Amino acid sequence: MFPALYLTRAESGATEAALRTLSPDDLPEGEVLVRVSHSTLNYKDALAITGKSPVVRSFPMVPGIDFAGTVERSADARFAPGDAVVLNGWGTGETRWGGLAGYATTRADWLVPLPAGMSAQQAMSIGTAGYTAMLCVMALEAHGVQPDAGPVLVTGANGGVGSIAIALLARLGYTVTASTGRPEEAEHLHALGASAIIDRTALGSPGKPLQKENWAAAIDAVGSHTLANVLASTRYGGVVAACGLAQGMDLPASVAPFILRGVTLAGVDSVYAPLARRRIAWQRLAAELPAELIARNTRVVGLAEALALAPELLAGRVRGRVVVDVNR
Ligand code: NDP
Repeated sequence: MFPALYLTRAESGATEAALRTLSPDDLPEGEVLVRVSHSTLNYKDALAITGKSPVVRSFPMVPGIDFAGTVERSADARFAPGDAVVLNGWGTGETRWGGLAGYATTRADWLVPLPAGMSAQQAMSIGTAGYTAMLCVMALEAHGVQPDAGPVLVTGANGGVGSIAIALLARLGYTVTASTGRPEEAEHLHALGASAIIDRTALGSPGKPLQKENWAAAIDAVGSHTLANVLASTRYGGVVAACGLAQGMDLPASVAPFILRGVTLAGVDSVYAPLARRRIAWQRLAAELPAELIARNTRVVGLAEALALAPELLAGRVRGRVVVDVNR
C-alpha cells in the first residue's frame, strides 16, 4: 500500500482532492513501474488540485506532472529494476496518473535516466520548472543570443521557472534583469544571479506597441500584457522565449516588434519536447546548476502539505520550488 493524492470530480463539477492509500492494483497499466521518491508542486499541479483550470482530462486522477524515483519493474529492455529515473510531461498528471504518489506506472519512451551525480530530490528541485527554464535558455541560444548581447529580462522571477532561468543565465555569463511583484525578495534574486530588479507592475498593464529598446532577450513565464510589453521593449533583432501564462493566456500585442524590429518570439513547450532535447536539458542542468543553489531555492514538503500549498502557489505566494517527498 502507498499514499497518493487522489482527485475526483463531484457531481457539481468541482474537483475534490484528498490524501488516499492505494494498492499497486489500483495503478493503471504501464510498461515501467517506478517507486517514486520525490515529485513536485508545479503551477499546473496546483491548477489540477484546486480544479481552477481544466488541466485534468479524466477522473479519478493522481496529479503530479513530474517525478523521480527508482525502477521497480520494467517490460522494456532499456530499463531495469534499480535504475534511477526522472519523468516530466507527456500528459502525466493530466491524462495519466502522475507523481504525487508512492508509485507510478509509465511508458519507457517517456523516462529519462537520472543524470550521474544528481539525486532524486535535486532532480525534483529542478523539476518541470527548471527543465522548462533550461529549454528557454536553449531557445535563446538556438536563436543566436550571446552572453554579451545585453540585458536579458526574466519575468515571474520568484517563480519556479523564473528563479532557475535567472540562475542558469547568470552562470552562462548573461546579464539578467528580474521582473517581480515581490521586491522584498530582492536579496534572493541577486543571490541567484540577477544584476537588476524591476517591479512587474511596469509590465502588467496595457502599453504602447513599441517602447524603449531595453532587452537583448527575455524569458517570459507570465504571458498577457506582460509578454506584450516585453516584446514591445525588446531591442532590434532580440529574442523572447515564451513559456508561461501566470498573468493570462491572452497576448494583447501588435505585430510592430516583429515587423519593425525583427524581434523573434520563440514558443517553449516542455510537455511534448522530444526525448533528445530532454536528455540534453537534463544533462546540462546537472552540469550547470550548482547543488547549493538548487537547495537554497527549494522547500521540501509531504503530500498533505502539498495539498494545502496548492492555492498559495496559485496566489503567487510561494517562492522557488516546492519538492514533495512522497514518503514524508
Ligand atoms: P510559479 O507559480 O512558481 O511562478 C509564477 C510567477 O509568476 C510567480 O512567482 C510570480 O512571480 C509571477 N506571477 C504570478 N501571477 C502573476 C500575475 N498575475 N502577473 C504577473 N506575474 C505573475 O509557476 P512556474 O514558475 O512553475 O510556472 C510559470 C508559468 O510557466 C506558469 O504559467 C506555468 O503554467 C508555465 N509553465 C509552462 C511550461 C511549458 O511547458 N510551456 C512548463 C512549466 C511551466 P513574482 O512574484 O516574482 O512576480
